[in-house]
Amino acid sequence: MNTQEFIRLEDQYGAHNYHPLDVVLTRGEGVWVYDVEDKKYLDCLSAYSAINQGHVHPKILEAMLDQARKLPLASRAFRNDQLPLFYKELSELSGYQMSLPMNSGAEAIETALKLARKWAYQVKKVPRHQAEIITCAGNFHGRTITTVSFSTEPHYRDDFGPFTPGFLTVPYGDVEAIAAAITPDTAAVLIEPVQGEGGVIVPPAGYLQQVAEICRKNRVLLIADEIQTGLGRTGKFFAAQHEGVRPDVTVIGKALSGGFYPVSAVLADREILGLFTPGEHGSTFGGNPLAAAVGRASLRVLVEEGMIENAARMGAYFIEQLEEILSPHVKEVRGLGLLIGVELNQESGGARRFCEMLQARGILAKETHDYVIRFAPPLIIDRTIVDWALPRIRETLQMA
Ligand SMILES: *Cc1c(COP(=O)(O)O)cnc(C)c1O
Repeated sequence: MNTQEFIRLEDQYGAHNYHPLDVVLTRGEGVWVYDVEDKKYLDCLSAYSAINQGHVHPKILEAMLDQARKLPLASRAFRNDQLPLFYKELSELSGYQMSLPMNSGAEAIETALKLARKWAYQVKKVPRHQAEIITCAGNFHGRTITTVSFSTEPHYRDDFGPFTPGFLTVPYGDVEAIAAAITPDTAAVLIEPVQGEGGVIVPPAGYLQQVAEICRKNRVLLIADEIQTGLGRTGKFFAAQHEGVRPDVTVIGKALSGGFYPVSAVLADREILGLFTPGEHGSTFGGNPLAAAVGRASLRVLVEEGMIENAARMGAYFIEQLEEILSPHVKEVRGLGLLIGVELNQESGGARRFCEMLQARGILAKETHDYVIRFAPPLIIDRTIVDWALPRIRETLQMA
C-alpha cells in the first residue's frame, strides 16, 4: 500500500480526533523516522516528548522483550519482581520517597488531583468535598472530563460539559493571581513549569520559586505536571530544578517508557503519597511488570548515556542558532533545553503550512496553538544533526 491508500483507510475507518501531517511512518531509529516510501525524516516532535531517548532505543527494547517473554502483566492483586525495583530506582533518581504508577499522563494527573483532595480533607482539614485546586490559563493536563474541566482552550471543552467542579483558573506567569486565588479551602496549585501544548510558554524567571513559596506559606500543595518537561527534556531531570524548586507532588509520564509503552507516575513523599489506603485507587495495568521493566531501562539510559546534559547543551545551541535566522515570519524564539517554540506572526498564515514545508525538507515538526512551531527532537541529537536541520529550517522560515 502507498501513502495515499493508508490515509484513505485511516480517514474512512478511524475517528477524526487528530489532524496529522500526511506522512505515514513505518520505522524509527534514534532521531530518525522513515515513511512507507522509505523517505527519512528528523523527528522534531519526539511524540510530544515521549521519545526523549530516541526511537527504538536498543537497551529499552531489550528490557521490554526480556520482560514480555517472562511476565508482562500480573495484576496488582499479586506482587511482581519488577515493581519494587522500579519504585526504588525512581525514588533514588527523583529524590521523592514514594511513587504511584499509572499508564497515561492524564490518569496520573487524575491520581495527583485525588491525592491533593484527600490530603486537604485528612491533613489540612478542609470541609469534605469543598477542596479547591488552582490551575493556570493555557494549561494542558490531559483529555479526561476532569482535566478538560479546567482547560481554557474552547476546542478542548466546548461540547464536553458538564464539568468537574472544584477548580479555578488564573493567568499563567502571574504570582499575584495565585496568591489572590488561595482560600482556606485551597488544596493545591497544579502547574506546568513550561507550558508545552500551550505553545512552549516559558514563565518569567523566579515564577515557580515564588509560587512554591506562596504554597508553602498557605499550606497548599504544589503539584508540578512534568509529563512533558520532565526526564531531561529541558536540560535538567525536572524542569522545576531550574528554579531550585522541589514541588510537593510531581507527575511524570511520556518519556518514562522511552516511547515503548504508556507508563506514568505520581511522585511525592510518604506523608502525602502514604495517604492512599488499599482499594481507594488503582489501575489494572498500573505498575505491571512490563511497564516497570521498561520504565527502569528508560530511566537508566537517560542518565547513563548523558542525555540530560546533552539536552542542555544542544538546546542552548539550537535556540541560539534559531534566533539568528532572519525571517519576516518569526515573532519570537523561546524555550528551555530541547523544548523549543518558534512563534510566527499572525499574518504569516499559521504554523501548519510551515510544518508541511519542513516535512518536504525532511523535518517533522508539529504546530501547537496555530502560530507556534515546536522543535523538540530526541535528547540524543548531536551537533551534526542540528547543523543539518538549521539550513532547512532557515530556508522554510524565509519562504513567502
Ligand atoms: C501529554 C501531556 C499530558 C497528558 O498525557 P497523556 O499520556 O496524553 O494522557 C498531561 N500533561 C502534559 C503537560 C502533557 O504534555
